Amino acid sequence: MTPWAASAPPPTVRSVPSIAKVEPLTSARALRGPFDYRLPEALQRVVVGSLLVVPFGRRRVLGVVVDLAEHSEIDPERLAAPLEALEQGVPADLVRLAAWMALAYCSTPARALGLVLPPGVGPGGGRPRVRTKRRLVAELAGPAAGRLTDGQAAVLRVLAAGPMPAADLPLDHGGLRRLADRGVIVLERRDVRRRPSAAAVGAASASPPMLTPAQTRAAERIERALAAAEPTQFLLHGVTGSGKTEVYLRAAGAALAAGRGAIVLVPEIALTPQTVTRFQARFGDTVAILHSQLSAGERYDEWRRLRAGDARICVGPRSAVFAPVGDLGLVVVDEEHDASYKHEGDPRYDARAVAARRARQAAAVLVAGSATPRPESVHRLERLAMPERVDGRPLPPVRLLDMRDAAHALHPETAAALHAVRRRGEKAIVLLNRRGWANFLSCRSCGRVWECPLCDVALVLHRSAGEVACHHCGHREPAPTRCPSCGSPGVARHGAGTERLHRELDASLGDSGFSVFRLDSDTAAGRGRVAAALAAFERAPAGVLLGTQVVAKGHDFPDVTLGVVLDADATLRFPDFRAEERTFALIAQLAGRAGRGPRGGRVLVQTLDPDALSIRHAARHDAEGFVAGELERRAALSYPPFAELIRVVCTSERPGAALHAAAAVAHGLEGTPADVLGPAPLFRLRGRERAQVVVKARDAGAAVRAVGAAVERAAGDRGHRHATFSVDVDPQ
Ligand code: ADP
Ligand code: ZN
Ligand code: ZN
Repeated sequence: MTPWAASAPPPTVRSVPSIAKVEPLTSARALRGPFDYRLPEALQRVVVGSLLVVPFGRRRVLGVVVDLAEHSEIDPERLAAPLEALEQGVPADLVRLAAWMALAYCSTPARALGLVLPPGVGPGGGRPRVRTKRRLVAELAGPAAGRLTDGQAAVLRVLAAGPMPAADLPLDHGGLRRLADRGVIVLERRDVRRRPSAAAVGAASASPPMLTPAQTRAAERIERALAAAEPTQFLLHGVTGSGKTEVYLRAAGAALAAGRGAIVLVPEIALTPQTVTRFQARFGDTVAILHSQLSAGERYDEWRRLRAGDARICVGPRSAVFAPVGDLGLVVVDEEHDASYKHEGDPRYDARAVAARRARQAAAVLVAGSATPRPESVHRLERLAMPERVDGRPLPPVRLLDMRDAAHALHPETAAALHAVRRRGEKAIVLLNRRGWANFLSCRSCGRVWECPLCDVALVLHRSAGEVACHHCGHREPAPTRCPSCGSPGVARHGAGTERLHRELDASLGDSGFSVFRLDSDTAAGRGRVAAALAAFERAPAGVLLGTQVVAKGHDFPDVTLGVVLDADATLRFPDFRAEERTFALIAQLAGRAGRGPRGGRVLVQTLDPDALSIRHAARHDAEGFVAGELERRAALSYPPFAELIRVVCTSERPGAALHAAAAVAHGLEGTPADVLGPAPLFRLRGRERAQVVVKARDAGAAVRAVGAAVERAAGDRGHRHATFSVDVDPQ
C-alpha cells in the first residue's frame, strides 16, 4: 500500500478528483506528457478540456487538462499546483479527437491540441490575447414623462427597435445619462458581439423550394439516419447543379429540430460565399462562421457563441471541423474532392477523415457531397445519387481537341467558339492551370535554363512584374535580358500561362462591351479579391473568365455558355497515383460550370493525350465509370482505399544528409509487414535537399506506429542531427 492510499479518506466520503493530468502545449517532440498537477480548493471546478497555466520546469506554460484522477503515482507533496485556469476551455470531445489525431497522424498530443484551442489562445502559454468585448449599451426602460429635447426624442425612436451601443446613438454621454437618471433608459456595460460581415453574393431565399424527387429521396434517407441516431456516413453524389446545398440545408434543419448541432465544411469561404449566404438566409443567427479571414475578435465571438450553444450550426473551411458544436448531429463536407481539406502543417490532418472520426465519436451523421467524388468515398460511404440537374437541363456536351500537331495555344475550334460567344454577347470560362507569362526561359545560344537558386525547378516569367519567380518558394529576380553564362541576348520563352493568354484574348476579343477577366493567385492575392473578381464576372453582361483551377470551383453562373480547358493533361504529368483523379475532377468540374441557363452550353477540352481514360470519362460526364475503373486499378496496385500510404520526407541543408536520413528510416522499417519504397531523392526545395520513404500497408494503425518508432530512432541519432523529418499519413 502506498503511503498516499493509507491516508485516503474513508470510502463513505465521496472523493473528488484532485489531480489534473495536463498536456503542456509545447512544440518539443521528445516530451512525454501528460503531467500530474495537484488541484487546490480554488480549482476544483476544473474539467477535462480546461486550460491551465502551469509551472513547467522554470517556465510557465499553457496546458490542457486531458484527464482527472484521484491518485497520482507521484508523491502529492512533490506535485505542483496550476497557477490559474483560463475563462474558456476546450470541449472534452475535442480533447478526445485531438488524442486520436496525434496518433493517427504521427504527431504529438500538444500539436494536435493546438488545433482545437479557442481562437486567440496561443500555444506559447499565458493569457489569451483576445477577450470578450464590452461596451456601454442603452435600452428603453420606462415611459418618458415630461418634455424631451429633439435629440432625446430621436434616441428613444432609435431604441424602440432594440438596445444599441451608446457610442452609436445621436446624443452625447451627458444627454444619455440624464435620460437614465429619469428612468427612461438604462445604461449598462454588456458583452457585444463582433459580427462577421455577411458575404452577400446573389440573393438567397429564406424559404426552401419544393425539392426534386432525387433531393427528397436523399434528404429523407439522411433524416431517417438522424432520427434513428444511426451514425451513417453518406456520399451525396450529385452532378453539378443537382441541388446538393438544398439537401444539406434540409438535413441541417432536421438536426436542429432534433435538438442537435451541425458543422458544414466548405473548401474555401472566398470561393463559396453562396453556401454561407444560403445557410444564413435559412437559419439566421443560429449560423456561426469560422474562418481565417475574420478578425481575431470576430473569430473569438463566433467561437464563444458556438461554445455557449447560442449558435448551433458552424459553416467554415477545414479548420471548422474543430468548431465547438455541442451535441453534434450532422457533419457536412461540401465538394469533398477538394484538395484544400488536407492541412499541410503538423499534424498533417485531412479534414475529411477528421470529420468522419468526429461524426462517429458523436454518433452524428456525415454527408460528403460532390459531383466528382473520390474513389475512397465511393468505396467507403453509402451513396445517395442525384444524377440530374434540378432544372432537368442536360449536362453540356464535351468535345476533345487533339493538340499534338497544334501550332497555336488555341485550337482553331476554340478560337472560333470564343468569337461566337463574343458575337452573341454570352459568357465563357477558360481554365489554364498555369499562371505567369512563360513556364520557363532558356538561352538560344548555350541552352542555359533559368532555375531557382533554392529549388530544382525552372523560374516562371511574370512579364508585367518584370520578374522571373519560383512557384515553389517565392524566390524572385529581375527578368533577364541576356544570358549570364554566354552573354547572348537571345532569351527564348517557352509555354504560355494565364498572364500571356490574358493579353492574347484581350487583344483578339476584348472591347468596351466584352471584358476578359483573369483570376489566379497573382491577380487575386489579397483578402476578398477572389470574391470581388467572381462578382465582377457575374455582373458583367458578357465576357470571358480566364484563370487557374479556382475558376472550376463551385460557383453557379447561370449564363455561361462555353467552358474551355486548355492543356487538360498537364495534371496527368505529375508522378502521383492521384493524377488521374485530379484530372478527371478538374475537367468535370469545369464542364459543370457551363450550360446552366436557358441558352445551354458546351465544353471544349484541348489535350495532348486525348486517349487518357480520365479525360475520356470526363468528356462523357461519366463519374461512375471513371471511379469503377480507378478502384479496380487501385485494388490491383494496392493503393488507397485498399491500403494506407505513409510518406516520410527528410530534408537537410547539408549535401547527402537528407538521403542518408531517409535510408535510416527505411532501415528502421525492415521486418515490418509493409512495403517500403525508397529512400528516393526528391527535388531540392527552399535550399534544402529532400528524400522520401513511402510505406504501403494494409493495417494503417500498425504501420503508423512502426513509422513513428523508426522516425523517432533516426531523429534521435546524432548522426542525423542536421536532418528534419516529417511524416504524412495518407499524403495527397
Ligand atoms: P450543386 O451544389 O449540386 O451544384 P446547387 O445546390 O448550387 O447545386 O443548386 C443549383 C441551383 O439550383 C441553385 O441556384 C439552387 O438555388 C437551385 N435549386 C436547388 N434545389 C432546387 C429546387 N428543388 N427547386 C428549384 N431550384 C433549386
Ligand atoms: Zn547562354
Ligand atoms: Zn524556389
